[in-house]
Amino acid sequence: MDANEKRKTHDARVMAIAGMVRSFAASARDGEYFSLKKAAVSHMAPQPDNPRYTDRKIDVKALVEIIEIDPAKRVCIAESGVTFTRLVDATLSHGLVPMCVSELKEITIGGAVAGCSVESMSFKHGGFYDSCIEFEIVSGTGEVITCSRDSDREVFEGIHGSFGTLGILTLLTFKLIPARPFVRIDYVHFPSFEALLATIRQHYKTQDIEMMDALIHAPDKCILCIGTFVDSAPSTSKYFTTPYYKSTRVLEHDYMATADYFFRYDADCHWSIRDYPGLENKIVRKLFGRFLLGSSNILKLSEKLPFLVKKGGKPDVIVDVFIPYTHALLFLEWCQQTFDYYPLWIVPYKMQPFYPWLNPTMLVGITDPLFIDIAIYGFQQRDDKNYYKILEDKVLELQGMKSLITHNYYDEATFWKSFNKVFYNRVKQRTDPKNLFRGLYEKTNYKQR
Ligand SMILES: Cc1cc2nc3c(=O)[nH]c(=O)nc-3n(C[C@H](O)[C@H](O)[C@H](O)COP(=O)(O)OP(=O)(O)OC[C@H]3O[C@@H](n4cnc5c(N)ncnc54)[C@H](O)[C@@H]3O)c2cc1C
Repeated sequence: MDANEKRKTHDARVMAIAGMVRSFAASARDGEYFSLKKAAVSHMAPQPDNPRYTDRKIDVKALVEIIEIDPAKRVCIAESGVTFTRLVDATLSHGLVPMCVSELKEITIGGAVAGCSVESMSFKHGGFYDSCIEFEIVSGTGEVITCSRDSDREVFEGIHGSFGTLGILTLLTFKLIPARPFVRIDYVHFPSFEALLATIRQHYKTQDIEMMDALIHAPDKCILCIGTFVDSAPSTSKYFTTPYYKSTRVLEHDYMATADYFFRYDADCHWSIRDYPGLENKIVRKLFGRFLLGSSNILKLSEKLPFLVKKGGKPDVIVDVFIPYTHALLFLEWCQQTFDYYPLWIVPYKMQPFYPWLNPTMLVGITDPLFIDIAIYGFQQRDDKNYYKILEDKVLELQGMKSLITHNYYDEATFWKSFNKVFYNRVKQRTDPKNLFRGLYEKTNYKQR
């Protein structure tokens, strides 16, 4: 099928979805909500008690087509259910890649915009949203809206980080950048948080490297992973029978095929399975890896067997927080005292301009666009404390933002100290006045209600 035919098929799919939404909007009872049935598994932290499981479903499983890649303009048009693994395969055949490739294979481009996205080029380009030019959305009234920074700007900006509460993303147009077939990674060791952060800041200022993220294995074992696109490699690693994160402790450098580099954390969903007996064993991984490893398998199993993720009745802490660079050292020191949990994943993230859905009051005095995404994946909660809540309070104190991909315990007033209620309500009124998709607070803080 050529791009025109694909576009016609897409338009027919969107008309069908819009029709479905209109009929739901006409017949929805008070307190009845709707959420999406996607083809790919969700990459929110597993939440078996989330009321979304009982929502009525809007079927968007068909939205998985890449409509067009224009190598001359370096632009791609794709449906929202396209996964990053498919997208990278398709764009690499033109020597191009998205400006932000979420590092788990089956995260979708729609989910990356509606939720969040970070990776090792985020210190240059921010998240996947920042590379987007135009969105097509089906609103809660069944209207098909095309929006961009020049047209319906607030809808374009508001859909980012709205967690499906403002409308259904159906089509995205976004920029691509040149890439090469392989990536060389250099591992640079630092003996302290301070030294690591100073070097990150230096590379951010000079923009002298192509990719960087970091793993903190211990307060005195901080490793900056610097990626460079290259045309050839003496040999390449592919991490499946051994977990990638462990290699960063011992290697000085490594080479991977570009797609394997982007998805290097996928087999172990970073390291969130490391406490499950046998799953880091080479033989078990060789024999059963196909069924047990990979973020999709891991998240599907966690949904089907919820007791696995609720050890001792409390869910493990799986969270990303974005802390202004100025406060990142304070936060890491606090993390050491409070969690003493490693590894931590560190992703420098450029936020310029500050997203309008963040509360501007919360950001007063912060002028530096550099934020540090700090990910805690798999901390087992101990004693009778709620570590999610403790984290929420600290992040707000340090003028940061806790991503809503996980368990949230904010009371409503505190929640809107981080997020921009006036802006959100304005877009909500435009795109979902009947509240078919729930409010952002209600959807992401169901435990608090
Ligand atoms: C353990 C773990 C590790 C992670 N690691 C990474 C990482 O390495 N890199 C990274 O970038 N991110 C990472 N994430 C975060 C992940 O990218 C986000 O949670 C993202 O939003 C998931 O996208 P998804 O496609 O799986 O969508 P889902 O999980 O299905 O949806 C996420 C939210 O977006 C909404 N949504 C989904 N599709 C649409 C649509 N078409 N229209 C409107 N709303 C929609 C849903 O309603 C939901 O509220 C990680 C998350 C976890 C739990």
